[in-house]
Amino acid sequence: MPASGLGVVDAHDHVFLDSPALPGDEFTDLERSTAEVREGRASGIGTLVDMTPIGLGRRPELLRAVSQATGVPIIAATGYHRDAHYPAGHWVHDASVETLADRIVTDLATGMHPTDWTDDAAEFDPARAGAIKAGASYHHATDGERRRFEAAAIGSHQAGVPILVHAEIGTFGHEIVSILEGHGVAPDRIILAHLDRNPDVDLHAEIASRGVSLEYDTMGRTKYRPDSELLDLIEGVVAAGHLDRLMLGQDLGRRTSFRAYGGGPGMRYLMATFVPRLRARIGPAAVDAILVANPARAFAVEGGSA
Ligand SMILES: [Zn+2]
Repeated sequence: MPASGLGVVDAHDHVFLDSPALPGDEFTDLERSTAEVREGRASGIGTLVDMTPIGLGRRPELLRAVSQATGVPIIAATGYHRDAHYPAGHWVHDASVETLADRIVTDLATGMHPTDWTDDAAEFDPARAGAIKAGASYHHATDGERRRFEAAAIGSHQAGVPILVHAEIGTFGHEIVSILEGHGVAPDRIILAHLDRNPDVDLHAEIASRGVSLEYDTMGRTKYRPDSELLDLIEGVVAAGHLDRLMLGQDLGRRTSFRAYGGGPGMRYLMATFVPRLRARIGPAAVDAILVANPARAFAVEGGSA
């Protein structure tokens, strides 16, 4: 699908997720997740980027069902999260860079593995992934996380898709960019997620000036801070000249985040509640850049050899 047709992009969200790091907070119900995405679409979301990576309950066949039922295109992820999301004994911990990269490239070029290689007999899903996840720990990256960064770089190079990196509590941003650049990844293929957990305008302006994208996703996370602080942050980064580096996602990662599962704020929050306030702060043209033009550039497939 052409990147120009994505419309408003929720650049980091989750339709299904089941992680040992979030016990009791899994969401795996087709009907409820479909209802949630339908509500998101009614609020104005055009395309969802589902950043549930290998091993966290990624469900390609269910993602296709949700997309078909709601009419919302979903860009699915391959790649790996930080260590905390894999139980002891999971193959991800011991796999070589070559195996880690092969599985990413298979997901991107052939089709997503339906059970994330816990069952060798399964057939690949007809849908291919369109983005790569990577993750670092708080202020550091472990050896395993560094191997998975290298695998992500190989996948991005071969398939031409971006790498979206989980920066734990917004830390380790400069270092993540340097690690990926060290593996030959161009800055415009790097997206840092969650930097707004550490809403430091000066730091963000510095990182953005390296040419990478920043994806903010704490709107409605009132336990962290009020939305007014995220509005201040966006206004500050835009004033520093980095409007073209910003994107927004919701990163609803817990069962209790969704209205269809009996919680909140729900997938409609971005467009129904946050964006009207953002428009009042920075104007509709700047908001369109953040929601439409920037993600269309960031998630476009560029070159690649696979
Ligand atoms: Zn996430």
